[in-house]
Amino acid sequence: MNAEPALGRAAIIGLGALGNELFRQLGLLAVEEVLLIDPDRVEPSNQAKCAFFRAPGAVGKPKADVLAGIGREWFPETRWEPLAAEIADVGWQRLQACGLLFCGLDRDSARLEVARISTRLGLPVCDGGMITTGGAAGRVTWFPGRGAACFCCRLTARRRREYLQTWSSAAHPCRVPQEPGGWSATPALAAATAALQVHYGFEWLRRGEPEARSVEFRLDQPLRLEEVRIPLDKSCPFHAAPPPLAPVSGPLSNALRPGQEIAWEWPLCLRARCLDCGAEFEPRLRVTRFRREGACPRCGRRRLLELDNRNRIAHGDPLARQAPEDLGLPAEHLYSIQEGFLVEETE
Ligand SMILES: [Zn+2]
Ligand SMILES: [Zn+2]
Repeated sequence: MNAEPALGRAAIIGLGALGNELFRQLGLLAVEEVLLIDPDRVEPSNQAKCAFFRAPGAVGKPKADVLAGIGREWFPETRWEPLAAEIADVGWQRLQACGLLFCGLDRDSARLEVARISTRLGLPVCDGGMITTGGAAGRVTWFPGRGAACFCCRLTARRRREYLQTWSSAAHPCRVPQEPGGWSATPALAAATAALQVHYGFEWLRRGEPEARSVEFRLDQPLRLEEVRIPLDKSCPFHAAPPPLAPVSGPLSNALRPGQEIAWEWPLCLRARCLDCGAEFEPRLRVTRFRREGACPRCGRRRLLELDNRNRIAHGDPLARQAPEDLGLPAEHLYSIQEGFLVEETE
């Protein structure tokens, strides 16, 4: 049993090799509650890098469910809550209840979504990264929230523009940034990175570290372990004071007065047409996810035209009669209510 005071709530975002090790660490520390977030299912290839996915019957099940099941048995002091979803599809009320977000992600697009959540909700992130080209090296980075550097601050202006365009534009971007995914890290590198992530993450949290910083290390020659500070980039768009956020239950119209609109971060595709068979349908999916996974419900093909993408709905819009979950928005989410424009947006 742990003699330390309760460590509160945390989330692990990304349940691959790093996520498995983070899970073990948080379990041993008896953290009070942990959200386990990953949309994927266990594949046989995951078993080479992820100890807990060797559990009998794990293959084919959501990674989040497998770890939550093991967690309840092995680490019963912790409440394990599985969320088999992408981070951008997790309701912000659930994340807001966490004191710290641990990231074990291998894609920068997801890191950027976490940075948005962190700066909007004022939540610290402890991100882990591994470098395997040219030797075994890793880093653990602390992003305290809105007042200090975030992951987006570290991107070049061009890369930032590319990512943000694919996020928020209602129209199709010219191109979606290509990003490498998947790690070929050794189990030792994953274990070392996750261990340092948890060690420093709680240390920085405990002392309320106000600045973004990174501990970088190399396991092979020349050996290295050093701490660097990360400055806030004044041109990063994530640090402006955000409009207040509020939960909404029941129809959106309940929360709106005339002239107001309700807005959320990532646009949804509400209506689309199949370019092959002509069927029109209502995907009710986040636009980026629809572009990746969307298929025609009638013919199954994937040449699709987005007809109605939204990240805001105004008072008086017929869609405002629906509840967030009917539109495909996450459960327990948070929204900004703002004075809207009475102009119809056209494309
Ligand atoms: Zn930033
Ligand atoms: Zn079709």
